[in-house]
Amino acid sequence: MGLLIVGSVALDTVATPFDRIDNALGGSAVYISLAASYFSGPVYMVGVVGEDFDREHIKLLEDHNIDLEGLKMVDGAKTFRWSGKYHYDLNVRDTLLTELNVLATFDPVIPEKYRKSRFVLLGNIDPTLQLKVLEQMENPSFVICDTMNFWIEGKKAELLKVLKKVQVLIINDSEARLLAQEPNLIKAARLIRAMGPEYLIIKKGEHGALLFCDNTVFSAPAYPLENIYDPTGAGDSFAGGFVGYLHKTQDIGIENLKRAVVFGSTMASFCVERFSTKGLENLTYLQVHDRFREFLKLSRVDDDD
Ligand code: AMP
Repeated sequence: MGLLIVGSVALDTVATPFDRIDNALGGSAVYISLAASYFSGPVYMVGVVGEDFDREHIKLLEDHNIDLEGLKMVDGAKTFRWSGKYHYDLNVRDTLLTELNVLATFDPVIPEKYRKSRFVLLGNIDPTLQLKVLEQMENPSFVICDTMNFWIEGKKAELLKVLKKVQVLIINDSEARLLAQEPNLIKAARLIRAMGPEYLIIKKGEHGALLFCDNTVFSAPAYPLENIYDPTGAGDSFAGGFVGYLHKTQDIGIENLKRAVVFGSTMASFCVERFSTKGLENLTYLQVHDRFREFLKLSRVDDDD
């Protein structure tokens, strides 16, 4: 059975202290689907684009065995556009532009063959749309949700409804503080899990990620890269690696969730090494697995007895 992914499909304009790129392929659904495509198929992608969306981007997604029956194209309309600027500290990003375009009127229709998917990843998109997707699913057993400050601030009531229906929420540290209205991350995690999700993952950029559940906090490092080129899509690639591995193994036990967090961090590390989606375009599963092993070495330590 397929892995259902919904999110934005975007043309991004990104500036870092080192370089700049205009109208590059981006969007949460794109990064998540590309990252997940290295695990097991089929990946079902639900999203919307306008007529300005390049045929080459479609080909790239198809070449990664991403099923595009759920990708709607709207004639005479423009694709969602986003623009961001990174500071010298690449953990700090300013959003310069969010132009919803086709996303503003998007009404996702889930193709028949997608509806039985057990694993669902609700990528960063309007929570109203995330709810519409869930309403059309038959009986998903594991739903993972991503979101961002834009929606926490703008659509909190709708987001709270989504959180009641998901097993995992993935957000970054500043978003967790914003959502919980609590500066301490451990307390914030408790408050957010009380909103619905059994598991919470808090991403901390180059400082790794934390997985919270009832009685454990698991901490995974980020890969120590010397060259971080473009952090855009790191969070989505993390989500794609996380859900891709769970879907491949069909195991949602806590030990496997921890491994999935490390696979998520692995995909994020490939993503940031190049601009736009380039870092996710030409990998092999062997490369992914080798870096996963490097991750394990990063924090392995023996007891002194
Ligand atoms: P990340 O760096 O993982 O947070 O994700 C960056 C991607 O999110 C970019 O490719 C953007 O196109 C997309 N994005 C930014 N803002 C939004 C938004 N409000 N809704 C949906 N997608 C967005």
